[in-house]
Amino acid sequence: NLMNNRPFIVGNWKMHGTRAMLAEARAIDRAAERLIKVEVAIAPPFTLIHATRKEASLIGIGAQDCHPADGGAHTGDISAAMAKDAGAGFTIVGHSERRTNHAETNELVKEKANAVIEAGMNVIVCVGETESQRDSGDAESVITDMLTGSLPEGDIVPERLTVAYEPVWAIGTGRTPSPDDIGKMHRHIRGVLNQTYGEAGASIRILYGGSVKPENAGELLSADDVGGALVGGASLTAESFLGIIMAA
Ligand code: PGA
Repeated sequence: NLMNNRPFIVGNWKMHGTRAMLAEARAIDRAAERLIKVEVAIAPPFTLIHATRKEASLIGIGAQDCHPADGGAHTGDISAAMAKDAGAGFTIVGHSERRTNHAETNELVKEKANAVIEAGMNVIVCVGETESQRDSGDAESVITDMLTGSLPEGDIVPERLTVAYEPVWAIGTGRTPSPDDIGKMHRHIRGVLNQTYGEAGASIRILYGGSVKPENAGELLSADDVGGALVGGASLTAESFLGIIMAA
């Protein structure tokens, strides 16, 4: 499967970007045309999904979160179907900033992941241990619990689900695990995916995220069973994001 063998590089713009940033999306899209060996996507804020979809025709466009319900009295929230209608082809759920800043539990993340699949989009489920969990030797068991608690239910088409391993202590800090530690955790995650989804688990992509930059992307992406990267800060300019894409 060509699609699944290509590295998947996803930019998470977080709460950055007004229409002035559409030029970056356009520049990424123009270059992505030449980079057929890499699958490229960006997740801008909700307010830019429609405009980036119109501006960029080749790369994937996704949302950073959604509400688990179809609709209703939820002031300020956005459903998966609404994100899709605006032009999103995928949605990120369970990012550590959502889990921390909005007290999102595994149960809620699972409901969101189910809603994204139900709406006909692909889903990226994020998991990651804190520094103290890693220091106390609990990283693998924490990740197992997060995965079993957060992954979407039922049979899955592997192309529609991506897991992003993002150690909390590596996000926005400039620190990263060693490629060996990343490979070890990705093999562990692979085991959980195989147990959860059977045969389909073998072809679900696992991304690494946390302080990926043009300078370290080649090394981090060469770690065992790394299917791509989820990039925050370095996805905000076409120049640095393309640097990562070139390294993939
Ligand atoms: P960072 O963020 O690349 O800025 O560390 C990664 C993420 O939160 O997805």
